[in-house]
Amino acid sequence: MPAQLLDGKALSTTLREQLNSRVAALREKGIVPRLEAIVASQDPASVAYVNMKRAWATKAGMESGQWEAGANTTQAELLYQIAKLNADTSVHGVLLQHPLPKHLDEDAALLALGSGKDADGLTPQSLGALVAGLPGFRCATPLGIIRLLDHYGIDLVGKHAVVIGRSVILGKPMALMLLEKNATVTIAHSKTQKLPDLCRMADVVVAAVGRPEMVRGDWIKPGAVVVDAGYNRVEGRDKDVGDCHFEECSEKASWITPVPGGVGPMTVVSLLMNTVDAAEASLGNS
Ligand code: NAP
Repeated sequence: MPAQLLDGKALSTTLREQLNSRVAALREKGIVPRLEAIVASQDPASVAYVNMKRAWATKAGMESGQWEAGANTTQAELLYQIAKLNADTSVHGVLLQHPLPKHLDEDAALLALGSGKDADGLTPQSLGALVAGLPGFRCATPLGIIRLLDHYGIDLVGKHAVVIGRSVILGKPMALMLLEKNATVTIAHSKTQKLPDLCRMADVVVAAVGRPEMVRGDWIKPGAVVVDAGYNRVEGRDKDVGDCHFEECSEKASWITPVPGGVGPMTVVSLLMNTVDAAEASLGNS
């Protein structure tokens, strides 16, 4: 029997409806949740991602803006912009859309952003809080995946999860969040040996690689849960594909995320939820 879908599109729609009422309640109290993005003006994919995130924010009744870093932007200007956003009490979330132009130091920018408005959960301070098990913003993509697994009642306790990929934005925080859920976690990467064998031992496979359809059906243990965070454009194909071969893997898995419509929408809604959380917290602080 083919796997059941972990439907991120449907769940994100429900979560967005909940956001609408949270935002409306904040507005009644005089607070409008606001997300600001810093984006590389010359990177069409980044601009498109930010536009989509801003459109969802607007639909939820939030405010959003963006500041574009271009070829002539200096590091000092970038850091000044971050300091301004950090000081602006009407801003609740700041998104540094990766990648910034190459001449800019993104790590220094993230460090300067700190933890207070890090709606994407990617600064060293937020990641440190995750490692330490302290409260703080959690990275939007793995957070969205955990929400999706929770929603469908996927029990992670004691389960063997294999995360393929160890990027700071996805693989590493994913592994830590699965660990927080008491899964037993293996992190695989480009130097991992016998990856298909390793995956065949997994109850949960999270693919975060960036290689179209790398994970094949015969890598999957019957009944395993497959989460495909990959999003890859392939020439000649009419739609983007994930890191897992969907048809093959869904013949073996019990649950699987589709691409598109799985992890992607959960990432965006989690980013907005983090921003609204921050706006609600600001109410408590004011
Ligand atoms: P990344 O920074 O390029 O990291 C890729 C990871 O995959 C690295 O750790 C790399 O290992 C590992 N890897 C590469 N080839 C491998 C192989 N043959 N076998 C095993 N591991 C291999 O990518 P990323 O930013 O994490 O993104 C991964 C994918 O997720 C992409 O398709 C991206 O578009 C997608 N993504 C989706 C969302 C969303 O919201 N849906 C958000 C973020 C990213 P090494 O460390 O050894 O190089």
